[in-house]
Amino acid sequence: MSLLRVDNLDVSYGDVRVLHGVSLTVGEGEIVSLVGANGAGKSTTLKTISGLLRPEGGDVTFMGEALTRLSVATIVARGLSQVPEGRQLFTLLSVRENLELGAFTPKARGTVGQSMGEVFALFPRLEERQDQVVGTLSGGEQQMVAIGRALMAVPRLLMLDEPSLGLDPLQVRTIFRTITRINSEGRSILLVEQNLVMALGISHRAYVLENGRVVLEGTGESLLRDERTKRAFLGM
Ligand code: ATP
Repeated sequence: MSLLRVDNLDVSYGDVRVLHGVSLTVGEGEIVSLVGANGAGKSTTLKTISGLLRPEGGDVTFMGEALTRLSVATIVARGLSQVPEGRQLFTLLSVRENLELGAFTPKARGTVGQSMGEVFALFPRLEERQDQVVGTLSGGEQQMVAIGRALMAVPRLLMLDEPSLGLDPLQVRTIFRTITRINSEGRSILLVEQNLVMALGISHRAYVLENGRVVLEGTGESLLRDERTKRAFLGM
């Protein structure tokens, strides 16, 4: 059984349909990427899975339970948390305070100390900077806080929306290495990325989205070699 199952999602903003029958799955222990050009509908797909948007049609099922009528908070409590595009941190609060805010479900509140230790083991830099106000951190460090905050909710499935956005090549490599490590420590990952090569390079499987439709799917490796991936990506 898949951990996450998305079947035939139709999503619109007002009268404009942007997702047309999107289906995908994430299995236990997998890293799955959703790649595609600007405006393909990647963020819309993630926001629908995490309950921020309601689909007009289709189903989202997580560990056998339908999510489409649950609140965002309930979905997080079920074990699915998202690192939003643009991070959306509390820039006037400290690193530690931002992380603590991630542990808002009853289960997560019970393990704040342990989760904080795990986040600091993953990102020693954040332990050094735990009292620093987040707005004064570098972009790469802020992305670490955003990922750390999502991990504080103790997810089974972590969804990341463009974690490499605005980072320099070294920071991008660090973030991708970290995603691989989070996965190897037992969490499944659904990754949205425009950085095609890096995303497919770390993914077990991937889906290519074009104009709100899945046009290709396969292993990360096979999609990297497939000329059609680049064509879909460049909108050619
Ligand atoms: P990007 O990589 O640029 O973030 P994306 O693949 O994540 O792109 P989405 O953000 O899901 O794409 O956008 C899909 C389409 O929906 C785009 O045409 C976009 O203009 C439109 N869209 C997104 N958000 C809204 C909104 N709040 N209201 C109206 N249209 C929207």
